[in-house]
Amino acid sequence: MTTQIIDDIFTLLRESGDLSYGEDVSQMAHILQCGHLARIDGASDALAAAALLHDVGQFLNDAGNAAEQKGIDAQHEVTGAAFLARWFSPSVTEPVRLHVEAKRYLCAVEPGYVEALSRASALSLRLQGGPHDAQEQADFLALPDAQDAIRLRRYDDQGKRSDWDVPDLESYRQLLTSLLRP
Ligand code: FE
Repeated sequence: MTTQIIDDIFTLLRESGDLSYGEDVSQMAHILQCGHLARIDGASDALAAAALLHDVGQFLNDAGNAAEQKGIDAQHEVTGAAFLARWFSPSVTEPVRLHVEAKRYLCAVEPGYVEALSRASALSLRLQGGPHDAQEQADFLALPDAQDAIRLRRYDDQGKRSDWDVPDLESYRQLLTSLLRP
């Protein structure tokens, strides 16, 4: 099987990876830190891939900057998951699709979580619908990938360190290739 798609994804990530997205680190540093956090947390390969690729929707149509500048929510988690679904199974795409729901869930149930959000994340929370209400919490928790989405969201929160060098994109090539759907 060709792994051209892995090259294409890496190219896409590299093209926009230097961009800032309202946090203290570049998009590239952020996604590499998220992937690495998943690995050192002992996450499955699928969840590590999801962590690395969770923001790919931001790279597709500049969704992140749109949210920042225009006050709209481009739903990068939905566009990213749909993009990835062409090659990867739901074990990869579902945590990606649900990582914003996981944020809304944690905002509702975890004391101090809202207060600890970064400025950019607090801004986007409003656009994303705010904290879950009770029904939304229940609906979210009933999804099979809810717990992986919550783990991914934790990596997302932690992967914003300005002083942390982690393994590069190439170090994920085998892992991603092994996850490609036949
Ligand atoms: Fe992120």
